[in-house]
Amino acid sequence: MSAARSDALVFFGASGDLAYKDIFPALHGLVADGQLDMPVIGVARSEWSREDLVARARASIEAHGGHADAAFDKLASQLQYICGDYSEAPTFTRLREVLGAAQHPLHYLAIPPSAFEQVVRGLAESGAAKGARVVLEKPFGRDYASAVELDDVLHQFLPERAIFRIDHFLGKEPVQNLLYFRFANSFLEPIWNREYIDHVQITMAESFGIKGRGRLYEELGAIRDVVQNHLLQIAALLLMEPPVGHDPEAIRDAKGQAFAAMRPLDPDEVVRGQFDGYRSQPGVAPDSDVETYVALRLHVDSWRWAGVPIYIRTGKSLATTATEVYVALKRPPLAVFEDVKRAQANHVRFRLSPDVVLELGARAKRPGESMAGEAVDLDACRDTVNAMPAYQRLLGDAMRGDQMLFGRNDQVVSAWRIVDPVLTTHKPVAIYQQGSWGPSEADHFIQGGAWYDPV
Ligand code: NDP
Repeated sequence: MSAARSDALVFFGASGDLAYKDIFPALHGLVADGQLDMPVIGVARSEWSREDLVARARASIEAHGGHADAAFDKLASQLQYICGDYSEAPTFTRLREVLGAAQHPLHYLAIPPSAFEQVVRGLAESGAAKGARVVLEKPFGRDYASAVELDDVLHQFLPERAIFRIDHFLGKEPVQNLLYFRFANSFLEPIWNREYIDHVQITMAESFGIKGRGRLYEELGAIRDVVQNHLLQIAALLLMEPPVGHDPEAIRDAKGQAFAAMRPLDPDEVVRGQFDGYRSQPGVAPDSDVETYVALRLHVDSWRWAGVPIYIRTGKSLATTATEVYVALKRPPLAVFEDVKRAQANHVRFRLSPDVVLELGARAKRPGESMAGEAVDLDACRDTVNAMPAYQRLLGDAMRGDQMLFGRNDQVVSAWRIVDPVLTTHKPVAIYQQGSWGPSEADHFIQGGAWYDPV
């Protein structure tokens, strides 16, 4: 991996929604932290002047809790704008000119995936890809075949070490804490296997619906939107072996192996649901079969995890908004005390959002004469108010050439291999009530247990 720090930041899609929501605030944060002392060049089709871009940046930052402070003035002085179509060579010739002496630009492609090829080709042919890094927004394909095809296209122009596939979920502090907590503590490793763990549940619940994005959501559904990327990434962090050695790639190697061990999903082990009222949303087909909810059972073919089901569940318009991992341990081998037979087994719970909780669920004796106990949760809560926003963290890492929090091609393609069988082969969606925990078809999904519903 080249250690050279990026010396210019180019963002394609400068006039788009993602730039407004996340990129300008991230750039502002990077300048405030002294990490963005370089030209910042926006490229899009809108016929804007440099002043229009600065005005858009100001509006974005103010709309997202920031102020037009000294850091903003500095960012504004660095901003440049290129108006051009990505299908036209002069756009890239102009970019190479504006880059001037920069040798290691970072190109961030916050654009529709259909434009990825045009842009990487344009960068390569203009010389702007030389010594550069390229950050790509998701989605990386829409099934296994298209992901492989996209990968082939990218590799025609760029080596893998220059490609940074963003999954902003991985830039979130609580998700990084999963990795840290697993490998910074010695007490977890001896029990982190099929001998002690009964099953794992990963729940990403959203109490809101599709927020007017009907047309976009019709192309996605829950499996493509969050399972293939965010939730399988969480699963990989939980399942991966300890990384070997100190090579920066070691963590991604271990994660890649975790993905390789995940078995493709079986349509009989997937429940898809749709919230009542989805079909009347703007942009949604009146007979839509797109899932807004999914529950699935994942199997892992590795020595450590054979026979331990991983349950993944996500949905819109559910009872609450929270993302949690619940690791259910097996019961003690012998019930020395009678009440243990009926009690809930121990667990480890990671609450990833909206707040962060690490919890070890245990039992302790209740005061009194009888040897009977009660559940006690050993909790550690973390405040994320001051956590660095995910896009700021990820752009900062990419500028340093640190790929640890970015998806590698083998992981991304593997994740599509896992979900591919159920993208087209599945039962019709089961309708569920808004504000519920999804369709009743998923109620008895956990073998020998029950869903843990986050509050
Ligand atoms: P938008 O449609 O809002 O913006 C697209 C941007 O690309 C605009 O700046 C547009 O320029 C530019 N563009 C598109 N085609 C061309 C072209 N041929 N030539 C020049 N410029 C072009 O998309 P989003 O910002 O919402 O999304 C961008 C990417 O980020 C997508 O891949 C999306 O999946 C991903 N993403 C988006 C999220 C979000 O919350 N919005 C969240 C996570 C990922 P102009 O408008 O000036 O024509």
